[in-house]
Amino acid sequence: MKIKTFSIGGIHPEENKLTHEVATQVAPLPKKVIFPLSQHIGAPATPVVQKGDKVKVGTMIADAGGFVSAPIFSSVSGTVFNIDTAIDATGYRKPAIIINVEGDEWEETIDRSDKLELVKDHPELTSEEIVTRIKAAGVVGMGGACFPTFIKLTPPPTAKAECVIINAVECEPYITADYRLMMEHVDEILVGLELLMKGAKVTKGYIGIETNKPKAIELLTKKCAEAFSASDYSVEVVPLAQRYPQGGEKQLVDAVINRQVPAPPAIPVNVGAIVQNVGTAFAVYQAVMKHKPLFERYTTVTGKRLQKPGNYLVRMGTPMQDLIDLCGGMPEGDNKLLAGGPMMGKALTSTEVPICKGTNSVTILSGDDARRKEPQPCIRCAKCVGVCPMGLEPYLLAKLSAFKNWERAEREDIVSCIECGSCQFTCPAHRPLLDNIRQGKQTVMGIIRSRAAKK
Ligand code: SF4
Ligand code: SF4
Repeated sequence: MKIKTFSIGGIHPEENKLTHEVATQVAPLPKKVIFPLSQHIGAPATPVVQKGDKVKVGTMIADAGGFVSAPIFSSVSGTVFNIDTAIDATGYRKPAIIINVEGDEWEETIDRSDKLELVKDHPELTSEEIVTRIKAAGVVGMGGACFPTFIKLTPPPTAKAECVIINAVECEPYITADYRLMMEHVDEILVGLELLMKGAKVTKGYIGIETNKPKAIELLTKKCAEAFSASDYSVEVVPLAQRYPQGGEKQLVDAVINRQVPAPPAIPVNVGAIVQNVGTAFAVYQAVMKHKPLFERYTTVTGKRLQKPGNYLVRMGTPMQDLIDLCGGMPEGDNKLLAGGPMMGKALTSTEVPICKGTNSVTILSGDDARRKEPQPCIRCAKCVGVCPMGLEPYLLAKLSAFKNWERAEREDIVSCIECGSCQFTCPAHRPLLDNIRQGKQTVMGIIRSRAAKK
């Protein structure tokens, strides 16, 4: 049988999953934590604490700043040191709450036991109650996009959800946080999936996972049979061929249920699918069943020259430097620090940037891997066109962006770019395609937003 995958473009970058078999460790408590108020798509959160306030682990420190927004919870106990600005993963100073850590006192409402809670034992959990708890706990997409999860579960009246697809692909090189989570907390993830299905009022679920994770496929298949065979839900584990960027929502929907999501503003639910990451399913379990807001996450800290790369359960707000120190410190020589992996990660200028809701990896590229090759003139080979999973013409979009031809860039559908970097990775002339396209896409999206606001 042919193994499924998405239909257009794609590449096969070197995997470099250095930490696949490295069990997750709990990262020690940091001395201070930094919470940027903008760590999800939508409006920044609004502080509800002041300088000098005492907080516990799980205390809300900032409330959602609008409908598309999410509250932020303290990951530590201590004293609010300041509400100031701090450098986040965008490289800019942004408003942030800084807390000095004192002890480790948790809110009493959080259930810290390891007992596995099952949906069937909680008749009070209606669809509405599940969505309410997810919203209240500040759960957002943990794969990096950080879209508030409750919104995905309540699609507009024009769309009808038919299934939930769990994104277990983790196709970005180096990153293994989701894989470790699946191997170490599969039961909780499957309860999280059931909660997501119940919240979205669907009975069909899929788990899309690439064939480079045979142990996880075997485990998920066995556990799904145990968990769902006698239930109202039907869940299928779908092995997928290895191909980047299969973890992109549109690519995953195409690969798993063979439906094509139209160009923006269409989203997966327009073709019946709600896509959620493995980490999000875990966070949903903890939020709904354990009353635990989102304040810690699984993060990979990796790099070929790191002494001890690993996977960590990290309290959010922890400065990256603390994690790099756990792995033996920054390697000698030239290094490039990324929040995320080498394909879609953001290059950082400071190791003090904190771990946020979407930080699935701290990646350090060293030596030649850290250096950009000198760009050469385009040789019109069209390789970038062939690999683009969105069917775009990257060489053209990059040129239109460089020449600020926004009208044409919009016509050429620059907003459909998912910023996967496949074009730049493939270009034999080392053109900075993604850099140009990303800038152009932001500008065109701004133009579209202001046009809509004037209507
Ligand atoms: S970064 Fe954008 S243009 Fe380049 S391959 Fe990915 S989707 Fe296509
Ligand atoms: S891959 Fe590079 S050299 Fe080839 S057409 Fe695209 S931009 Fe030009």
